[in-house]
Amino acid sequence: MTSTARPAGGGGPVDPQAHGAFDAHRPPSAELLADCVHCGFCLPSCPTYVLWGEEMDSPRGRIHLMSQVREGEPLTQEVAGHFDACLGCMGCVTACPSGVQYDELITATRAQVERNTSRPPAQRLLRSAIFAFFPYPRRLRALRGPLRLHQRSGLSRLLRKSGVLQRISPHLAAMESLAPPLGAAEPVPEVTRAAGPRRGTVGLLLGCVQREFFPGVNAATARVLAAEGFDVLAPASQGCCGALSAHNGREPEAARFARRLIDTFESAGVEHVVVNSAGCGSSMKEYAALLADDPAYAARAEAFEEKVRDVSEFLAEVEPVATRHPLEVSVAYHDACHLGHAQGIRSQPRQLLGAIPGLEVREVPDGSLCCGSAGIYNLLNPGTARELGDLKAANVQRTGAQLLVTANPGCLMQIHSSLERAGTPMPLAHTIEVLDASLRGRQPSDLGVPGATRSTGGSPTP
Ligand code: SF4
Ligand code: SF4
Repeated sequence: MTSTARPAGGGGPVDPQAHGAFDAHRPPSAELLADCVHCGFCLPSCPTYVLWGEEMDSPRGRIHLMSQVREGEPLTQEVAGHFDACLGCMGCVTACPSGVQYDELITATRAQVERNTSRPPAQRLLRSAIFAFFPYPRRLRALRGPLRLHQRSGLSRLLRKSGVLQRISPHLAAMESLAPPLGAAEPVPEVTRAAGPRRGTVGLLLGCVQREFFPGVNAATARVLAAEGFDVLAPASQGCCGALSAHNGREPEAARFARRLIDTFESAGVEHVVVNSAGCGSSMKEYAALLADDPAYAARAEAFEEKVRDVSEFLAEVEPVATRHPLEVSVAYHDACHLGHAQGIRSQPRQLLGAIPGLEVREVPDGSLCCGSAGIYNLLNPGTARELGDLKAANVQRTGAQLLVTANPGCLMQIHSSLERAGTPMPLAHTIEVLDASLRGRQPSDLGVPGATRSTGGSPTP
């Protein structure tokens, strides 16, 4: 079952009625499985295949395993392990010339694994701990104080240098090293009025990790949208979008979060829901599929999905009105997988950055390969994530850029930690923080780039 040999033949028919060892609730679609012609074009784009060269840890191998389970082979822990090892980066979706919808296949398969297999106790405990905190902004907020103290006391530096935590638990060491340096909280008001003539009203998703660990990104997003003429509503009652749950097979939990978010933004009466976290945005664009069987929400989920926009996608659709001030800086732009591969948003962030006078965008070599963050993958599989992070850090360094820019909190944490470990730290920022700095007439030093005088506050615009 787990041989490294290439699966024989083409996709082959899979009985659409039978679901084999999967249960009857949304098994991976027989029709989609049959789309795979086993050509192997996706293999070089798959991070786990690149690292291990194992067929069953490639997209083609995983699709073969899904077909086999549908045909009655048991869903063993070993088989589930190949699905768990998938980062869900969707590099294979971009690479596949036959248009195989691996994203839908792996989403369905993960939910089946969650319902029909039992993981070892240590893994169950780790997953329970992660899901008891990450989708709950208030619980994450409670961690901020102790974490800041830990970082400021110097204990964090000591632990990383000594490697002692790595020896005790690589999972704990990963958590500790991924936490970004925490600054002061920057709450976003529930209403930010448009500067100048109002062009519309948008909702802003605050997120969980984004809100508590990168509050500056939300603040910058609200400022930029307001500067471009939009009223920004950020309801305080909004919760998690359910992305982490959906991407980890926790379908009922993801559906609960989705329903609540739909309720919140429907009440707010916004024309668009703007998102600055790639993983959240890609998940919110799949609400219609998630809630398709719910008569009370199916149509509302479809309508909601239509309104969701990544912030760079939204800004690229509207004529810019705010003045861009020069920012003399070179940036390496990293495509977050859930922005590039999952949402097909590649040109818009480059267009926004490229329109800033003085700013030079540089491409990261091998840029389409995942950095290893992949939601909570780097906490569950720290060894694999580390290897991918090291590859990414080396490629980012090759650009010689002064600043690394990306659009996902997970990628920011993963690349920051990988660059630190390599001994080549560099400043990082979200795309919207760079645009915000330009609109406010700030300097590269305000984004942490050394070598320029830090501005003393006050913003020329808007
Ligand atoms: S490129 Fe597409 S069709 Fe070819 S093996 Fe990969 S998933 Fe299957
Ligand atoms: S989603 Fe990423 S890790 Fe998973 S099979 Fe596709 S390319 Fe490989």
